[in-house]
Amino acid sequence: MKFKPANNIQDLQYFGEFGGVNPSISDSSTYTFLSAKTMFDTFEGNADGCYLYSRHTAPTNLYLGEALAAMEGTETAQVTATGMGAITPVIMQLCKQGEHVVASRTIYGGTYAFLKNFAPRFGIGSSFVDITNLEAVENAITKKTRILYCETVSNPLLEVADIRRLALLAIKYDLKLVVDNTFSPLSISPAQLGADVVIHSLTKFVNGSSDTMGGVICGSRSFIDALRDVNDGASMLLGSSLDSLRASSILKNLRTLHIRIQQHSRNAAYLAERFEQVGLKTVYPGLKSHPSHEQFKGMMNTDYGYGGMLTIDVGSPEKANALMELMQKKNLGYLAVSLGFYKTLFSAPGSSTSSEIPEDERQAMGLTDGLIRFSIGLDQDIERTFETMRACMVEVGVLRPNYALN
Ligand code: PLP
Repeated sequence: MKFKPANNIQDLQYFGEFGGVNPSISDSSTYTFLSAKTMFDTFEGNADGCYLYSRHTAPTNLYLGEALAAMEGTETAQVTATGMGAITPVIMQLCKQGEHVVASRTIYGGTYAFLKNFAPRFGIGSSFVDITNLEAVENAITKKTRILYCETVSNPLLEVADIRRLALLAIKYDLKLVVDNTFSPLSISPAQLGADVVIHSLTKFVNGSSDTMGGVICGSRSFIDALRDVNDGASMLLGSSLDSLRASSILKNLRTLHIRIQQHSRNAAYLAERFEQVGLKTVYPGLKSHPSHEQFKGMMNTDYGYGGMLTIDVGSPEKANALMELMQKKNLGYLAVSLGFYKTLFSAPGSSTSSEIPEDERQAMGLTDGLIRFSIGLDQDIERTFETMRACMVEVGVLRPNYALN
């Protein structure tokens, strides 16, 4: 049967404490017990349904986690204060000193910096590979490897991971396949394709209003319970817990995610096609020219399109900066990092979100200085947006007045 992530979210039913149509917000950091024995049992993890302290779990966070687990089709989920607050405990939970991660070389700069610079302090090493080259992935696996780590659609190069085949490799070598699905919520459901753990930065599309940080780890009950364990659970002990007020607001925004993703995808597909027509080097998984277009197609839940992220290469950092500044002046969007907002957001990853990656490595992976990453907004009139963008490109010399490429 076809997997229907938005149906799964909508099939959940919640009531507030007084019959409200929204679940009540549990505005407490700590919880009372009628008996001291139950408090002890809760510490030991033997008192289901009891709440102890909100770093551990809180009712509103459980509601949000349940909805996100439904979206990804996993047994359960743990929500966290940020996306990095989801990624780092997963790695620390799955790897001990002396163990190893095989990671895609094109991943969010913060994740890359954590694996490359921070995790080695705890004796956890990483090899970075071209995730689309399965032979290279397999060759990088050692006896010490515990995790295969990738993003479904990578930040910022929009490379697409073959989740099914990576999952087979993970089974073959007894590894955990951990997938960051931040760029492709609803469109792709990695756990349905074999991923063991699915992560999102909720800060992005899932929340969609750029007003809060958040993250989630979706996985098996035993793994999420292990993360929350008071004695040795990385989530519990590293302490990146989401506040209940924010869990409540993210849950409300999650209800419109399916409509937003459809509009983000429609608008991004339109712009990507038009950019390509005028000769710009454009990367968008929905374009036939994308090397993994068929790959994405074979994994996607068809209702949601190819997502809202695209890149163009305008040739130089000077042109990229001039274009972004002008587009902001013309109110086409904001020169800002992050993604998933109602307005288009644009940034040059080489000097921002991927600046943690050394220049020689950026060059090797094709992350050029003239690259602009767009998170396309929910514009009602995307034709008008394109016309204004095209005029900006002429003004800064990316296109000639006849709209040919300069
Ligand atoms: N994963 C991806 C793909 C991201 O783009 C980001 C942030 O940009 C993160 C994770 C980290 O999320 P957060 O900023 O919420 O910690």
